[in-house]
Amino acid sequence: MGRTRMIRITFLGTSAAQPTLQRGLSAIAVRREGELLLFDCGEGSQRQMMRFGTGFGVSAVFFTHLHADHYLGLLGFARTLNMQGREAPLSVYGPPPTATLLEQALHLGFERYSFPIEFHELCGGERIERAGCSIEALAVDHGIPALGYALVEPNRPGEFSVERAAALGLPPGPLYGELQHGRELLAPDGRRVRPADVLGPPRRGRRIVLSGDTRPCESVREAARGADLLIHEGTFGDGLRERALETHHSTAREAAEVARAAGARRLVLTHFSSRYEDDVSSLAREARSLFPATELARDGLTIEVPLPPG
Ligand SMILES: [Zn+2]
Ligand SMILES: [Zn+2]
Repeated sequence: MGRTRMIRITFLGTSAAQPTLQRGLSAIAVRREGELLLFDCGEGSQRQMMRFGTGFGVSAVFFTHLHADHYLGLLGFARTLNMQGREAPLSVYGPPPTATLLEQALHLGFERYSFPIEFHELCGGERIERAGCSIEALAVDHGIPALGYALVEPNRPGEFSVERAAALGLPPGPLYGELQHGRELLAPDGRRVRPADVLGPPRRGRRIVLSGDTRPCESVREAARGADLLIHEGTFGDGLRERALETHHSTAREAAEVARAAGARRLVLTHFSSRYEDDVSSLAREARSLFPATELARDGLTIEVPLPPG
């Protein structure tokens, strides 16, 4: 297993509520081990996917909530997939009323798709298993049913020491695999060998948390504990703190407080109010005063999360 396995995150749209010239509506593409997941699909997302080269091979879409700026893009995207003759099923997850609302919307004036679309409504605490990772739904605080998501990889076994195995008299071959899979065995000289004799300490998996639209909340803080990356909305700056409260959003500074309290390694802010046009530098300053490892997303920003060292 090489060290090159990356999780690659592409911000397709980073504006809140309405697009600007430079920013489209919410959508984030996550590529992991060949699988492409989409988190929200705002209007225009399919064009952003072309622009930024993510490909259309999405296997599942996870909606954070059903405000129109987060889901309208699914309609056009699904039509395009249909025209391309897609056959693979598309899974669509989200809080209620994902199933009723999106099923209706997708079939507006339209007969049938070339591929099955499967709807699943989720509550906070539910977990979806994907290949080699799980996606946990987090109940967040946005005034309507709304979810954040945590992408969580299990710990990996520690590094195999060929030297130690050789010192114990183990010939290279299938015995190595047994130990890597956590099974004890007997060496040719009859000695008992435990996995811990040849494996380093377990290596932690990656953890990436997306807040969706929300006030700062405990579920995100908890899920982001030690996370490799927290993607948090930062719709407003300090000057519009009241507005953030009224509309159930966070300020950039509040997002930074969450990242700091959680001990996240890295914070990326997104979902900026169009009133900042394309100058979000004040938001960057406010967030970095609390959490220096803050970046501000822009459309097309791609972030790679490598396997943790060790
Ligand atoms: Zn929004
Ligand atoms: Zn919203």
